[in-house]
Amino acid sequence: MLAIGECMAELAPLDRPGDYHLGFAGDTFNTAWYLARLRPDVTVSFLTAIGTDSLSQKMRAAIAEAGIDDSHIRTLPERTVGLYLISLDRGERSFTYWRGQSAARHLADDPEALARAIEAADLVYFSGITLAILEREARDRLLGTLRRAREAGKRVAFDPNLRPRLWTGPEEMTETVMRGASVSDIALPSFEDEALWFGDADPEATADRYRAASVETVIVKNGADPVHFRHGATGGTVAVPPLSEVVDTTAAGDSFNAAILAGLDGEEAMPALILRACRLAGIVVRGKGALVPFVPASLAD
Ligand code: ADP
Repeated sequence: MLAIGECMAELAPLDRPGDYHLGFAGDTFNTAWYLARLRPDVTVSFLTAIGTDSLSQKMRAAIAEAGIDDSHIRTLPERTVGLYLISLDRGERSFTYWRGQSAARHLADDPEALARAIEAADLVYFSGITLAILEREARDRLLGTLRRAREAGKRVAFDPNLRPRLWTGPEEMTETVMRGASVSDIALPSFEDEALWFGDADPEATADRYRAASVETVIVKNGADPVHFRHGATGGTVAVPPLSEVVDTTAAGDSFNAAILAGLDGEEAMPALILRACRLAGIVVRGKGALVPFVPASLAD
């Protein structure tokens, strides 16, 4: 399995004002991190680009330590990784980003390396954020390579992850995200964002739109509300197990996606797979930060 995208350095505040913890996170990377834990039998690779400085080296070490294959990471000596800092104001988190110049914007610049990485995988995962950080030419190259991979029998999974601030405008975002969907077998959108930017009246409308873009499996997340799915000729809803407390929803969707991808090659029916994904996301929202350690066995019935 290959995840494609940006991993960033994260500075998270500690108890003492001015003290921060250095971590690493990013949407597709988070999914790879959870997937590596869920499926130690599968090679999980992450394709990105980093610099040669010590922060980039620390990131590479963190990726490898998580059990993720780092052999498809490009190294660009003149660049470094993106960074974000979390601020806490009376429990509310806000984020400041430095990612405009990050190496990851060049992750798809080498056509042969990109094709080789995708060729080595059975399942490829990318997101709207992956598309947003790329220049137009690299974006077209990535989408073209994914389209050919899909035609050659690979499975392609996509989380639209709508982030208007990363795009020049909402039209570029919605148009490019639907191009992403058109090369994908599996779409994992979140209803709240889709309703806001595509005007979907309900999760069924979201599912319809992705199905119309030729996506075979659509799973629409909706916070604590039921998950809607379409899978081939089947479809339905799955209730999310209620939680008594939610600490931090960072990476709820990313971990959910990992559990879905982890079960795609199994025998399990879609509702059972979705329930397991909700259980993992339920653990993640009760912990702090994007990467919350868990025991895979605890997700079973
Ligand atoms: P995203 O993080 O992509 O915006 P959602 O907020 O829809 O995604 O959440 C993804 C999944 O996380 C949901 O399908 C659900 O399983 C779980 N989740 C999120 N918020 C809650 C909540 N308040 N209570 C229980 N589960 C939640």
